[in-house]
Amino acid sequence: MKVLMVSSEAMPFAKTGGLADVVSSLSSSLAELGLDVKIILPRYYSVDRSKLELLSGALGVPMGFGEEWCAVYKTALPGKKNKNPVEVYFIEHEKYFGRDGIYGSAEEMDFHDNPSRYSFFCRSAFQLCRKIGWFPDIIHAHDWPASMATVYLKFLERFNSDFKNTGSLLTIHNLGYQGIYGKNNFDYTGLGWDVFYNAGFEDWNMLNFLKAGLYSADKLNTVSPNYAEETKTQEHGFRLDGVLRIRSDDYCGILNGIYTDIWNPKKDKLIPKKYSINDMSGKLEAKKALQKHFNLPEDPDIPVIGMVTRLSEQKGVGELFGPSYGSIWNICTEMKLQLVLLGSGEAWCEQEIKSLSSRLPNFKVQISYSEEISHLIVAGSDFFLMPSQYEPCGLSQMYSLVYGTLPIVRKTGGLIDTVVNYDENKGTGTGFMFEHLTPQAIKDTVGWAVWAWYNKQEQIRDMRLRAMKQDFSWEISAKKYAALYEQIKTEQTGAERIRTAE
Ligand code: ADP
Repeated sequence: MKVLMVSSEAMPFAKTGGLADVVSSLSSSLAELGLDVKIILPRYYSVDRSKLELLSGALGVPMGFGEEWCAVYKTALPGKKNKNPVEVYFIEHEKYFGRDGIYGSAEEMDFHDNPSRYSFFCRSAFQLCRKIGWFPDIIHAHDWPASMATVYLKFLERFNSDFKNTGSLLTIHNLGYQGIYGKNNFDYTGLGWDVFYNAGFEDWNMLNFLKAGLYSADKLNTVSPNYAEETKTQEHGFRLDGVLRIRSDDYCGILNGIYTDIWNPKKDKLIPKKYSINDMSGKLEAKKALQKHFNLPEDPDIPVIGMVTRLSEQKGVGELFGPSYGSIWNICTEMKLQLVLLGSGEAWCEQEIKSLSSRLPNFKVQISYSEEISHLIVAGSDFFLMPSQYEPCGLSQMYSLVYGTLPIVRKTGGLIDTVVNYDENKGTGTGFMFEHLTPQAIKDTVGWAVWAWYNKQEQIRDMRLRAMKQDFSWEISAKKYAALYEQIKTEQTGAERIRTAE
């Protein structure tokens, strides 16, 4: 089974969130199962060219206003020495990717030419396959930036013999980001206006890339079973719930796994001392190092609540830090705890957080992106706070659980699939959950966890051990993806036979 992953992010090359972790760790796991997997990515400025191999000859990509040329680089996905390495191909096009930032920058939050950047990238995927003489059974596209790959396949490339047996899967990592732009961007795609309507691009007189992908891909999935159900409702469907209901026979949820070579307290190289359920001393050391890093009193008895997050509305930052009604002030002034946050994102939130931190001695922040500190927070905290508005799967709560850091989360999306709420009568559960996203609910639930920390120490210890025994490895989910690819391939081969007979 040959699979081409088309993605705008993949670890360790380009990452803004969980998408990057998932694309790489899923690809590695599929390769371990024996699948032939390749990844295609844009060559952003942040990807160091000197470590890549340049393929000879330029790649011509036919776009709406003529052919455009790019260079192709190649490397292998780092990780375990695998008999079956995952090759990663990079598309270099100075005009589109020769700048800082992935989707935007400080000056321009969302690059105005993103429709062209990602249409070009998706079309180049087909040309790349021709160049290397490798034609996938499945094109697996991720989120809106890769959606066009499924459209090009269905409306253009499948009519060529090279891709006549290729099927497609589109994975929704976050329905909130759809790639909605002006219709004037459509001519550049090189597709006819009949496709604009037939593929479902039209969205209130705008161009919606994800919507077209949802209509065009052979199968669809999202990253947790619960989010698959939620997205078919008006409340969580971001206006595409109707499309997902129409396609519900082809749509499922497969829970993300985590990369257990990287996110594993027994193997973690980024924390002061590795630990496991048999020897938890490393967790205490991590807590000490965390308190030291954030200039907090090094006290093992005070509960530390950690956060690692994009600072966006989705993550509940309005309810937690909002200037007029956020709950952080009450949490930090009324409870004996320490709260540390690593994150970056919306400017108002960064400002507000810095200002709050200067007034609250037990609230420390680092506004940056740091893999190292994220590991230290996940390992060294006692609780991990994730008050998300919605959460397609969420990786951070799974990382926290396997590090024995109990999540405090809202009952939504993949958080429901991965965290079991604490029951103080029975002492069961792996975390603390609340229903409605309000400042009061966040405060009450943090208060509940802190109360348990001081009053139910044995239960907290048991919850920790229970959490650390959870298996979130890709083993099960990668097999589900492999089975889905098989199903797509079988259906596609059948459909091609009918097309040929006609
Ligand atoms: P999302 O993809 O919606 O941002 P997830 O929980 O699925 O949320 O994944 C977030 C990923 O990004 C996790 O790996 C988390 O550790 C990482 N992350 C988010 N912000 C930062 C940051 N400032 N520094 C380091 N890692 C971060």
